[in-house]
Amino acid sequence: MAEPLDLGDQINAQIRATGPMSISTYMRLCLTHPTLGYYKKADPLGAKGDFVTAPEISQLFGEMIGIWLANTWTSLGAPKAFDLVELGPGRGTLLADALRVIKNVPGMIDAMRLALVETNPALIEKQKNLLTPFTPIWVTELSQLDDHTTPILMVANEFFDALPIRQFIKKDGTWHERLIGLEGDKRQYGLSPTPLHTELIPDQMKDSSDGAIFEQSLLSQDVISTISDKLQNRSGALLAIDYGYTQTQIGDTFQAIENHQFADPLANPGKADLTAHVDFESLAKAATHTTGTDQNTLTQAAFLKAMGIVERTESLKAKNPDHAANLETDLNRLIGDTEMGSLFKCLCISSEGLNPYPFAAEVG
Ligand code: SAH
Repeated sequence: MAEPLDLGDQINAQIRATGPMSISTYMRLCLTHPTLGYYKKADPLGAKGDFVTAPEISQLFGEMIGIWLANTWTSLGAPKAFDLVELGPGRGTLLADALRVIKNVPGMIDAMRLALVETNPALIEKQKNLLTPFTPIWVTELSQLDDHTTPILMVANEFFDALPIRQFIKKDGTWHERLIGLEGDKRQYGLSPTPLHTELIPDQMKDSSDGAIFEQSLLSQDVISTISDKLQNRSGALLAIDYGYTQTQIGDTFQAIENHQFADPLANPGKADLTAHVDFESLAKAATHTTGTDQNTLTQAAFLKAMGIVERTESLKAKNPDHAANLETDLNRLIGDTEMGSLFKCLCISSEGLNPYPFAAEVG
């Protein structure tokens, strides 16, 4: 039988054959189906795409991350060889901006081996345009870098929000997984009849009332614990930036974005970006080793200010008075309270005792 071309038809056929599917299975199919998944197709970023990310707003974002990478490399004792790894580098803009800073740090570029974890062929082409002079290697899985033993610095901007989540809803006093089933040809939500084992329910959820919903990304937790082990073995740090919450909480954040608009997540499989807010508390707990700091999560505003974004904007404004208004607008988009400044968080995971600036108790 010929394979139906539409991803929605394929998902419906799978539901008819094997029963309702979890949101994580649905999300994984929609985002990473080998030919029809959202992240296997065209470049989704930018004004013409579905969404705009911080590095696409302003070069200052990548530059501040460049300063963080340079500081952390210095704290590691300026190793003569290290891996710089980015998870989901998009168009390569963040790294291109960060590398302009890194180039000014004596010895750092020569010591660096650049590795990009990416699954989207259209984005790999864009990354090649910007990053070829730095001779990156491309991998689709972190485990492909397992033969490396040097210290490692990692960056991930808007990567974890794209990893699949499951949702659970409380009904008549017990928690049930939310599933996607069919009514006729229309996909719709339902609940698994099997109650969730009480041991699997986070402590924060125990007193919730009926109708409450919580989300869990086991894959994100797995990725963090693998990275944390790797960092401990080889020394180094990860900086993960995303929108989300600092404490595990109740709420439905599963969302679809298409052409810069919110859409129905069940309506157009493979055509809309599906994401969920990141539960930073669960990620921090999944780390197998601590950073040696009291505080491993900062708001994006606190992080960028600590790295000097306000001073850098002022100096650019003085040099380019014609662009002052634009520079101010871009700065506000990145650090404004009602913009990305407080919804977005920066999580640092590192090898024990490394204590990367500015993830320390007195900042933030
Ligand atoms: N960091 C970039 C892009 C964010 S969009 C920026 O800030 O602009 C998410 C990125 O993660 C894209 O590059 C996407 O192709 C990649 N991605 C999504 N799921 C992935 C997966 N499972 N493995 C590797 N890369 C993935």
